Parts: sequence; structure tokens; C-alpha cells
Amino acid sequence: MPPTLPAHTRVVIIGGGIIGCSVAYHLTKLGWKDVVLLEQGQLSCGTTWHAAGLVGQLRSQESMTKLIRYSTRLYSELEAETGLGTGWKACGSLSVARTAERMTQLRRTAAVARAYGVECEVISPSQAGELWPVMRMDDLQGAVWLPGDGKANPTDLTQALARGARTRGAIIAQDTKVTAIHSRDGRATGVSWRNKEGDAGTIDAEIVVNCAGQWARQVGRMCGVTVPLHSAEHYYIVTDRIAGVHPDLPVMRDPDGFIYFKEEVGGLVMGGFEPNAKPWGMQGIPEPFEFQLLPDDWDQFEILMENALVRVPALESAQIKQFYNGPESFTPDNNFILGEAPELRNFYVGAGFNSMGIASAGGAGMALAEWIVAGEPTMDLWPVDIRRFAGFNGNEAWLHDRVKETLGLHYAMPWPNRELDTARPFRRSPLYALLRDAGANFGSKMGWERPNFFAPPGESPEIRYAFGQQNWLPWSAAEHRACREGVALFDMSSFSKYIVKGADAEGVLQTLMSNDVAVPPGQTVYTAMLNERGTYESDLTVTRLAHDQYLLVTGSAQTTRDFNYVERRIPADKLCVIVDVTGQYAVLAVMGPRSRELLQSVSRADLSNEAFPFGTSREIDLGYATVRATRLTYVGELGWELYVPVEFAVGVYETLHAAGKRFGLVNAGYYAIESLRIEKGYRAWSRELTTDIHPFEAGLSFACKLNKDIPFRGREALQQLREAGGAAAVTRRVVVVTLDGASDAMLWGGEAILRTGSDGTTRPAGFVTSAAFGHTLGCPVGMGLLARADGPADAAWIESGRYHVDLAGDLLPARLHLRAPYDPAGERTKA
Ligand SMILES: Cc1cc2nc3c(=O)[nH]c(=O)nc-3n(C[C@H](O)[C@H](O)[C@H](O)COP(=O)(O)OP(=O)(O)OC[C@H]3O[C@@H](n4cnc5c(N)ncnc54)[C@H](O)[C@@H]3O)c2cc1C
Repeated sequence: MPPTLPAHTRVVIIGGGIIGCSVAYHLTKLGWKDVVLLEQGQLSCGTTWHAAGLVGQLRSQESMTKLIRYSTRLYSELEAETGLGTGWKACGSLSVARTAERMTQLRRTAAVARAYGVECEVISPSQAGELWPVMRMDDLQGAVWLPGDGKANPTDLTQALARGARTRGAIIAQDTKVTAIHSRDGRATGVSWRNKEGDAGTIDAEIVVNCAGQWARQVGRMCGVTVPLHSAEHYYIVTDRIAGVHPDLPVMRDPDGFIYFKEEVGGLVMGGFEPNAKPWGMQGIPEPFEFQLLPDDWDQFEILMENALVRVPALESAQIKQFYNGPESFTPDNNFILGEAPELRNFYVGAGFNSMGIASAGGAGMALAEWIVAGEPTMDLWPVDIRRFAGFNGNEAWLHDRVKETLGLHYAMPWPNRELDTARPFRRSPLYALLRDAGANFGSKMGWERPNFFAPPGESPEIRYAFGQQNWLPWSAAEHRACREGVALFDMSSFSKYIVKGADAEGVLQTLMSNDVAVPPGQTVYTAMLNERGTYESDLTVTRLAHDQYLLVTGSAQTTRDFNYVERRIPADKLCVIVDVTGQYAVLAVMGPRSRELLQSVSRADLSNEAFPFGTSREIDLGYATVRATRLTYVGELGWELYVPVEFAVGVYETLHAAGKRFGLVNAGYYAIESLRIEKGYRAWSRELTTDIHPFEAGLSFACKLNKDIPFRGREALQQLREAGGAAAVTRRVVVVTLDGASDAMLWGGEAILRTGSDGTTRPAGFVTSAAFGHTLGCPVGMGLLARADGPADAAWIESGRYHVDLAGDLLPARLHLRAPYDPAGERTKA
């Protein structure tokens, strides 16, 4: 008997794959009973039913690893709770290395795993052979062993989650398709449905959740929401029994061969992630598409099969029982998509799981349910936040070309600074062609092509990837030095820029910004935006342009997120609007001790320190153009950011370079910005500043107006922290890390920081969050988050420890700094 559907409920979930069922399970666990899940076919009939069921715990970000560790805990307990088997088996997993570089990567992985508290061991080829006797190992360099990894049966897991949800009151209707999504005044208000018996109806709902897997893009389109994902074919084969394969055999990954294996009924499942994948569904997904596979494609599978035969010679004579070709959805950056859609309030998305949906479902379902109940993320979810994309990421031709590369990223070498190659160039600054001709190598951020560094004449502007120092380092060092000693020009046009305007602009911003922005026109303020927990939503600069107008400038990646954050918090009865002007202005940052001389040579404005002090902003003439010059710096030197209408950008660039010859002006890129800002201890949002960190931990409480009687979001939380001791009482602290004397080494970020206490014991105490080679300091430099388990991470505790950074198993002595190692008093910026 199909359930009777109500006319009204609190939440409607669209899609009964593992993700939708996990969201329903967790919402009911949080006490929400009015939950209706609608599935157009049967539970798990989309992508979930044919997943291989591998559950690997390690991800490159700590927050993502935490989600999967939660999944493994949940899966091991779900059978006892629901009475339904899940096929969960903690069989462990093994990743093998064919090359020295891969072994370095695995050692780095093992170091991070240990610091995350994930059990992980680096083992020899022969130890790997003992764990996995059917593999060839004479060509291996070694392996890592994660005993806590496992596998599960995806369909059984989905049914168990569904039962858990139903038991607590959720209604699950199968063979019921959502045909429309309703909204009013920018909010989702419900759905229309039709079932296979021909009945149709409408459900009013406070919240609608799109868990429609590879259908999520078209479901999003029903209500104007961009869900940037595209299907691609993904394959595995299942063999008959193979001698030596037993039920406890661990999962085995051979990333250099793009393949993985797991045991199934005495045989092997072998699948993989080929480097050049095959997109699918360009004309839409056929209807119906339930428990369905695509035709075999042995040509596309060939690269995987060849490698599998190398690793497991017994496959040569094994019977292949079945070829699985299942389409599933991939995203532009290989991370899934979670959260409330910026285009429509109360419409949430949990989709685009890039072949990690089974491993991620437990944690992702929990995180999305908490977000729905709290109305905002309860933990750092930025790597998967839907607001990392914009409408232009929904372009189907772009997605089609990008997912060819995304699928293969699972086993591609995760080189430091690795850039994606496909579907580029995408967004270009007006200076793109000039910078390309000047030898720029471009990286990509939020789709923008941004110079990483400039190759000298005669050199190719490419990155030769390595875990040690890469080929571009001397070129970037020259840019760094030019900025410290002379003058450098950075194209920072990708900055997100918004105008906030209206008679109530000041009042609205005062409630959103931690710092006091009730300043005279022409003043620039560095500030945070905090949530009610007092942790970072963003950090940005706010320039008052007029009594009723402000310019907000934030990082490139946060354009959608920060716009949305501010826009949604402008009360309806206030005279205030926010407009995104990112694409209207190029930003040329002229930085270095000679920047004043250079700019003064092309402008009639008075640029002296008295007339144009630090933290001020105004329009100046520059050649034939009129630009906004703001005296700020992200590199720790005297300098101005020039906000130039795009139609004047080329002219300004040419004027600066023509005049700059006298001052030794050089083009410089983002790799130099990174080394310059880290030496100066400038924090970056999403690395040092996240929704898990508050200003006392970040060492930035000076940018909070706690001493003024002005309410702002997050104030109560900060007040409590201050009363509890403020910075002196925090148990975590953002620090600068230097590897003094290690001039041949390279830090990339993500490395574990180990602390040896006065009792001689050594423990993981944190991670490097940003890293570079500090060319002024002459050694690798990073920033990191240091944590103490048994008391405040105060200066005395920090100074009483000895520190090492774990570089792929090598422990390098490190020095920790609470103040910037370069120009701690900031004298150079105020010159
Ligand atoms: C060959 C292969 C192997 C894989 N192996 C692994 C693995 O080892 N480990 C791992 O973690 N992941 C693996 N995956 C990935 C995993 O299968 C997916 O990430 C996961 O199943 C996605 O779950 P989902 O709930 O998002 O999507 P789905 O299972 O596709 O669920 C979405 C549901 O929404 C329904 N729907 C769509 N539109 C509507 C509508 N309008 N109204 C109502 N219902 C609608 C669909 O019918 C579908 O059932 C593999 C995938 C493939 C293809």
C-alpha cells in the first residue's frame, strides 16, 4: 500500500538514493518528524544500487575526513539500531605505490592520517603482499595500510537508513515523481508530485531538499537553482571466484594504474578512474532510468583492464561475470554540493557525489540535516558548500568538458598546486592577453584565470610538478624580492566586489561587520563577518565611498557566498541594496617601497603619507584614466590597490609599465603574493579563517568593536569568550611556522605540526594551513592552527614546546611565531 501523502509537511526530500535517505534519517534523529521523501522509482534505483561500496576515510581536508569517519561509525552501528543488515565490513584498505613520487604522496597521506587520528601505517611491498596475496608486488615501492577503512552494501545501507527514518515518523513514497517546485517571495514553498498510478498532488512544505543525484541539475532548474554537475560513465567488472581471494581481503587501490579491487563472493570487483572520462546524458537522462545500466564499453575500460592484469595476473584466466557501466554525477572540482541554494531560500541541495556517495552519505546527511535545522552550517563545510559556485558554472558545454577530467582526479597524483586543465580559459581579466604575452602561467580560482608567476623570456611558463621545490620557484623569488625592494604589479581583478548603497547602508553594515564601519567617506576598514557562534563567515575590507555608499571587497572564491550572506541579512524595511560589481572593475595592485614614486610619476594626486595615509581611499587621475586608489596591502609593503573600470584597465596597465621602467616595475603573480603574505602573517579566509575559528583564536580580535556599544552579529559569543579570558584562554591558536635553515625543503600546506612537551612526549598539535617558501626569511614558511588538549594554548605553553613539521615522514625542526616574522610592527606598510 503506498503511503497517503499529506497536503502539508515541514520538509520534502526529493530522491530516495543513499543521500536522500540519510538526510531523512538524520532530520528525524534531530527530532523533526514531519519529513516526506519522494522517490520517482524505488529506493536506491538511481545510482546507489550499483555502487561498489568502498568506504575510504581519508580526504584532503580535515573537515571532510571527519564526515567520513562519522559515516564509518554510523554504518557499523546501523544494523543494531534498525535490524537491517548493511554489509558493513571494516576490512581495511591498502594503497600501493608504483613510483617514488607516489610513495612520497602516500607518506604525506600517512602523516596527515595520524594527525587526524586515523590509524595508518606505511608498509613495505612484502608486507603489502602478505595482506593481499593475489597481487604482484615486485614493481612496488611500498604501500599504506588503513585498518579502519571498509566496505558496505549500498542498497542495504539505503534501506537501513530509510527504516531508521520511517521508525521515527518519516513518510517515504516510492514511484512518486516531483514534477514542480513552488516558491513565493524568494522561498521554496512546496512541490507537485505525480505517481505511477496516475495520481497527482501538491505538498506545501517549509523546506525542500534536492537529493536527486544525477537528476539534481534538472530538478534545480525547476526553480531557477544552479546545481553544477554532469553525468559520466563509470565502470567496474565482477569476476568469478579466484583462488586466494577470501571474504576478509582488504580493499586495494593501485592509483598509478587508476584501479581498485574489493572482494565479492570469492571473486573480485575491479573498477577505476581513467584519466580521460566519458561524459554521458548530454541530451538529458532517459525516462525511466531505474536499476538501469549502460552498454559495456571495453575500449574505454581498456586502460583499467591492462593495469589490472599487471597488478593481479590471476585475472588473465578469471571468468568475468558482469560488466557494470553506471552513470553518475561529477562536479567541476570533484567535491560534492551541499547546502541552501543562494538563489532560493529554504531550498537545499545534497548532490554531485563524484563516486564518493556511499562513503560520504552518513556524514553528508548529518551535516545537511544540521544545516537545515540550524539554518546555517554547524561546522566548516566550505569545500562542499553550494555557494562556491555561481550561475555560470551551470553552463552545460563547460561542465561536459570539465567532468572528463574530474573523474580521473581520484587517482591522479595530487601534486601540490595542481591546476585543472580542462574547460579553460574560463573567466578572464581584461589584462589576460597582455599578461599571457608577458609570460604568465595562469591558475584558476572561481573560474578566473590568475597569474601564478611569470616565466622569464625564453622559458616556458609551465609548472613542472614535484613534492620538492618546483621549477618556477626562482622566478617567483625574483617577483617577491622586487616587491620587497622595488615595486611589483599584481593583477587582482578576481577580487569579489560589491556596492552596498542606500540611506540605511551604514546601519545594516554595522550589524553585519565586527569592526566599526561608521567612518568618514574615504576610509577603509578591515573587518570580519561573524555568525552567532562568533566564528568567521568572511573577512573583508569595507571602504566608505559616500554617506550612503560602501565598497566591499572580499576574496575571489567567496563571490556568491558573501553576496548571499549580506543580501539575506538586509531587513526588508531598510533602504539598502547590495550589487555585485566584480566584473566591472579590474584591480591592479602596485606594491613595494617604490610604489609611491611610480604612481606619483603618472598622477597629479598627492600620494604623500600625510595626504594619503594607510587605510584611506579616493579617486585619483592616472594617465588618462580616473581610478579609485586604496592604500592597503596584502603583501606587507607600501602600496595601493587601484580599482579601475574595465574599459580603462589596459590603458592603466600600459601607463604603469611605461613609467615603471625607471623604477624597475615587474609583473608578479599569486605565488609571490602567497610567500609575501605568509611571511607577514596575514590570514586567509578558508585556510586560517573558517567557520570553526573565532577572532581570539585567529589573533584578530582587534578588528572587533567590542569596546564600543554597537551591536553586531556574533557579539554575544565574542563577549562570552572575552569574559572567559579572550586570547589568553583559547585552546587553539593561529601561528606562523618557519623551518629555519631548511633552505632546500618545501612546505605545501596540510602537513602535521608535532609538539614535544617538557615531559619529552611528542604529539600531533596541529596542521599547516597555508605554506610557501619565504624568500625574505630564506626558509619555508607557513601558517598553522595549533591546538592544546589540556589547557590554554597561550604564549607560555607555545614557547615551552619544541616543534617539528612532518614532511612525508621526515621530521623537520620548526619555529613557531605568535607575531609575524617579517616586519612585525608594520612599519613598512605605513611608510
Ligand atoms: C560504478 C559505480 C561505482 C561506485 N562505487 C562507489 C564506491 O565504491 N564508494 C562510494 O562511496 N561511491 C561509489 N559510487 C558513487 C555512488 O554510487 C553515488 O555517489 C551515490 O549513489 C549517489 O547517491 P545519491 O543519493 O546522490 O544518488 P542516487 O542514488 O542516484 O539517488 C537519487 C534519486 O533521486 C531520484 N529522483 C531524481 N529525480 C527525481 C524526481 N524529480 N522526483 C523524485 N525522485 C527523483 C532518482 O530516481 C534517484 O533514485 C559508485 C558509482 C558508480 C556509478
